[in-house]
Amino acid sequence: MPCKVCKNTLIFLDKDPSCPKCEKLSVVPYEDSLKISDYLISVFQKKFLNLVKNAKKRQLLANVFWYRERHVRRIYTSYTHIDVTQLLACNLLLRRLIQMDDFLEKEEINEEKIVDIIKLYTDLTQFEEDRVRLEAGNWSMLKLKKYNIDNLEKMTLDAVAVCPNEKYDRVMKAFAKHNIMPQKKAELIMKEWAKQLQEPIVPGSKRSKTAKETISLFYELISEFYTAFFRSRIYTEAFGLPSDYKISIDPIELQRFVGGYPMMDSGLSYREFVDFRAELISKFGGKYKQFLNYFVISQENPATPLFLRLDDNVLISQAFTELFSYVLHVIINRDLFDAETEKRSKKFESQIVKSHFENIGYKYIPNHIVKNKMEIDGIAISKSNVFVIEVKGWKSRKLIEEKTSKDILVREIKHAIEGLHLDYMSGKIKTKVSLPKKVKWVNENRKKFRISDSVEIKGMLVINDEPIISEYNGCIVRFVNDFENNSL
Ligand SMILES: [Zn+2]
Repeated sequence: MPCKVCKNTLIFLDKDPSCPKCEKLSVVPYEDSLKISDYLISVFQKKFLNLVKNAKKRQLLANVFWYRERHVRRIYTSYTHIDVTQLLACNLLLRRLIQMDDFLEKEEINEEKIVDIIKLYTDLTQFEEDRVRLEAGNWSMLKLKKYNIDNLEKMTLDAVAVCPNEKYDRVMKAFAKHNIMPQKKAELIMKEWAKQLQEPIVPGSKRSKTAKETISLFYELISEFYTAFFRSRIYTEAFGLPSDYKISIDPIELQRFVGGYPMMDSGLSYREFVDFRAELISKFGGKYKQFLNYFVISQENPATPLFLRLDDNVLISQAFTELFSYVLHVIINRDLFDAETEKRSKKFESQIVKSHFENIGYKYIPNHIVKNKMEIDGIAISKSNVFVIEVKGWKSRKLIEEKTSKDILVREIKHAIEGLHLDYMSGKIKTKVSLPKKVKWVNENRKKFRISDSVEIKGMLVINDEPIISEYNGCIVRFVNDFENNSL
């Protein structure tokens, strides 16, 4: 929905859409905005280095690790909505600091100091996130004061500001569908959730026994964290595993293992490395190497920081590891998780489509099953039109804030109409009945549905993204949000 007057892309200052052109606001050109963004990041990097250069490195790392642990514990004890930006800053700090060598080892790091450090780093990572959003074209930069693009050293920090533009709407909607939402709404949902569970989740609890049970029971939580942890490349740097990972460690086992270490209010638990390794071997057998490789970060090993090795000791972070074990379910059991997501989203979207057609006077037959042959998500029938509906549902998606490749979207649409389904883990493609074949079947069974001979029957795919192609193989492609907004 560009500006109705001048067709310019709208931006969102606060919450209201405004047209930069009509309202005489100055938008920084794309290339300049990236250059300025890089400059701002470098300014904050310098500030940060100044703040930590005197620190004792091991103390600094241990304190960040402890800060993160306390932060996560709060969601288990009081169902506070988690502040993912702080977790992001902590994890990036752990992964980046451990690789840095030029500390002067003079300054003691106390709790007050660590709060300052994390605050500054949260600001810095915010600038890095802005950079990703600007690059994807989802956000815009506004010029508020004069600057010279060739002499940015003289630019003041308040000369520019960034804000989402209308392209970011798609991202926000995707987040809402994965339960990533404004704090107020999230708090309400957490309260509701607390009532259902009756007791707080205790790390290492044995409530769920299988991956399927866990995914179904904690679906919202898992989905929220998976989407949040991998929303852009910065998040992937903070929380991700190496791209060629091969993990066979059961997340439930990981949860139980970490739950075996006592959790203290006064500080982190730790083990001597030799004991820790012995415990790993007795619990995981030959897989202990995988465990050390992927989950125990040290100067020599750039792992996901579930455990922190400093010289001869391993620091333990029960609450964060518990949280990560949920995400690990998705990483390891992607197909189970995708199936659950698809089931839930299809149910939800089918309802939206059904209400829409009923509101405009159609008869709607949901979920028509032809035994041993096919499943039709919906048939919408009026005197002049019949649509055979296929609802795609959605899958968990990585890198939601980055540009989604058009090629991928087009391929997904074609596959959905052709009835092709990619099995994520095996990489094999499974074939189901295509939408044109379903249309053909309805066509041959007109009498059954009291469709007169003169009415045209068309296939319609309902997807969860702005359709890049509006028709394929004789079938119409529609965006589910258009049903919600009644803008068809
Ligand atoms: Zn305008």
